[in-house]
Amino acid sequence: MNLFDCNLEDLRRWATDQGLPAYRGQQIFEGLYQQPVQRFADIKGLPKKLAQDLDIQSPLLPAQEIRRQTSADGTVKSLLRFHDGALAECVSIPTKNRHTICVSSQIGCPVGCTFCASGLDGLGRNLSAGEMVYQVLFHHGRRKVTNVVYMGSGEPLFNYTNVLKSIEILAEPRGLFLGRRRFTVSTSGVADKIRQFAHDEPQVTLALSLHAPDDYTRSRIVPLNKKWPIAELMSAMDDYTNKVNRRMTLEYVLLADDNMSRQQASKLAKLANRYGAHINLIPFNPVSGVPHQLPAWNAVEAFAQQVEEAGGHATIRGQRGADIDAACGQLKEREQAKT
Ligand code: SAH
Ligand code: SF4
Repeated sequence: MNLFDCNLEDLRRWATDQGLPAYRGQQIFEGLYQQPVQRFADIKGLPKKLAQDLDIQSPLLPAQEIRRQTSADGTVKSLLRFHDGALAECVSIPTKNRHTICVSSQIGCPVGCTFCASGLDGLGRNLSAGEMVYQVLFHHGRRKVTNVVYMGSGEPLFNYTNVLKSIEILAEPRGLFLGRRRFTVSTSGVADKIRQFAHDEPQVTLALSLHAPDDYTRSRIVPLNKKWPIAELMSAMDDYTNKVNRRMTLEYVLLADDNMSRQQASKLAKLANRYGAHINLIPFNPVSGVPHQLPAWNAVEAFAQQVEEAGGHATIRGQRGADIDAACGQLKEREQAKT
């Protein structure tokens, strides 16, 4: 059993199921989130005998770090191996005022966007809530985490219940106590779940990975577009913005020769303005075996300018960790290529 899958109530119940007083469950919950622990024996206040018994029954931590890359800009990318041998990455991105963790929500990804390393082998499995919580906690020991983005491998809205539970656990006041506004969930466009998300987590920021403002291009690079084309997505976003009084973000990976025409810039700006959305332009991070080209820097700047001229608000996203294969899925691909 992975105790990181448990919210405070679950752990109280677990304790009583074990024949322990419920407050032991709370003590373990607080111990997991308020100090870095490796074993039950590290949790302050637990009776020694109980901690020893629990350590013998099962390991406390659900994953091991098997590879790490550190960028000159301080970004740290860790490859974690879970109990069944499955591999997923999590990335720590420190800046002056923030420490953001980029969390994977699935092993691999079933969507298969043509520019992304995570989708190359399809879906392995969903990650549990605790396996996502642990990715945050893993980096929290080095520096207090301030923000969490579900932008690692996987489509978070295809693992909806577990993603929501991981947010609930990380937001728990007796644990890390991260405010809900500090979370961002990024989706490739699961329209029905976008509507449900507005209802279930109205304070969490939603980022939509649009990548193209027309169905012809988007269906080629984001296969999910065939199921939920842009008109369908826009209707979901209408519902979302009517319910949630929050700005959403549009993510747009810049792929030379695919989605960077002047016409696309102007369509993108119109679409974003309808929702008051901010546009993040992300220059493609080259992935081996993927049929796209890195755009020249002047083409990136020209596209950003065309979006602005058409009335859109766009930022070119800085390439954090560009020297360490920071595009999600790349470290895992490398590890698998060796075996
Ligand atoms: N599946 C979700 C969340 C994970 S992907 C989604 O697609 O939104 C998170 C972001 O990483 C997406 O915006 C995606 O477009 C971007 N990304 C994936 N591969 C990339 C690459 N090779 N270069 C640049 N950005 C990439
Ligand atoms: Fe999956 Fe997102 Fe990668 Fe597309 S970009 S394959 S949805 S992880």
